Amino acid sequence: MRKITFISGDGIGPEISELAKRCIEATDVRIEWEEAFAGEEALKRFNTPLPEATLQSIKRNKIAIKGPVTTPVGKGFRSVNVQMRQELGLYACLRPCKSFSGVNSRYEDIDLTIIRENSEDLYAGIEFKEGSREGKEIIEHIQQLKGVSVSLDSAISIKPISRYASKRIFRFAFEYAKKNGRDKITAVHKANIMKYSDGLFLESGREISKQYPDIEFEDKIVDNMCMQLVLRPQKYGVLVLPNLYGDIISDLCAGLIGGLGISPGANIGDNIALFEPTHGSAPKYKDKNKVNPAAMILSAVLMLRYLKEDTAADRIEKAVKNVIKEGKVVTYDLGGTAGTSEMGEEIIRKVASSKNKMTN
Ligand code: NAD
Repeated sequence: MRKITFISGDGIGPEISELAKRCIEATDVRIEWEEAFAGEEALKRFNTPLPEATLQSIKRNKIAIKGPVTTPVGKGFRSVNVQMRQELGLYACLRPCKSFSGVNSRYEDIDLTIIRENSEDLYAGIEFKEGSREGKEIIEHIQQLKGVSVSLDSAISIKPISRYASKRIFRFAFEYAKKNGRDKITAVHKANIMKYSDGLFLESGREISKQYPDIEFEDKIVDNMCMQLVLRPQKYGVLVLPNLYGDIISDLCAGLIGGLGISPGANIGDNIALFEPTHGSAPKYKDKNKVNPAAMILSAVLMLRYLKEDTAADRIEKAVKNVIKEGKVVTYDLGGTAGTSEMGEEIIRKVASSKNKMTN
């Protein structure tokens, strides 16, 4: 039996991750879940938001599914999510955004995939606090090296973009496009302003694109990309972005198809993968039985596809689609009045009954 690390997360995490787990259990795929902790629950139990035992569990099992985890804003511990992606070498973040029939969204025909570089950029965690000794030293170095004066009361964040990581994410994206029959890749950047960092990202994309002559390669400056996506998202397929733009554009694309409640995701490395929705822990809805469990359940679908369990993945995906299309048992974000558990139970019921239909 396959062992998978299960992290329920915090905020709305426990409510939705349990439902995703039960969806998988309603299929024929047999999994032994190894529970591990991250975020508030880990802080309470082990005095750290990311225990070493959690990382070890994922390294051992190579696959994990995780509910969202809260990160304090502007203070407190570093993002557990970013730390996990870095420590586990999960360099590619994959976020499909596909229209669902029955969702009252701005568009009905969107099929976008966001591929976000997960390991560097402004998420590298290299920051200097305003007024710190190191911060002042960096500012002095900048003055000496570049002749540019930076106000001494500045905080500094460093944005590293490497040729290695950029080529690696474009290679991942082209391979993804090839396997999934996508004919165009759009690199998103701000190389007109950040000529060296974003310039290198773009140059790496151009270089890798030469190995894939059958796939069209184009690039867009990120501000223009935002406008294009709002005006005519159907023109685009696979978008490849550095970490920060990838994060922002993911939410924009989620908004185009009807919201974060139906936007799944995966963080993938060379031999480890962690599946989690695009959305965060929505703390205001914690224990309110309010949010949509579909993004988490669809992340489980991505996991099953990664495991080549396509029949089980199809059954769950179809159940989610049908529940959304029928619109009778859906949460507030999809215009319904159902709670998280009611919508989740309806999906699980449909997954289970699809087995009966198959065997009848
Ligand atoms: P969020 O994604 O939690 O919520 C943004 C908005 O979307 C809110 O209005 C929320 O109500 C709505 N929403 C989110 N999930 C939904 C769902 N399943 N169904 C319906 N509506 C949903 O973003 P935020 O409020 O900016 O962040 C909250 C916390 O989550 C922060 O601490 C942030 O750092 C963290 N976060 C974690 C992850 C992760 O664990 N991978 C990702 C993003 C944000």
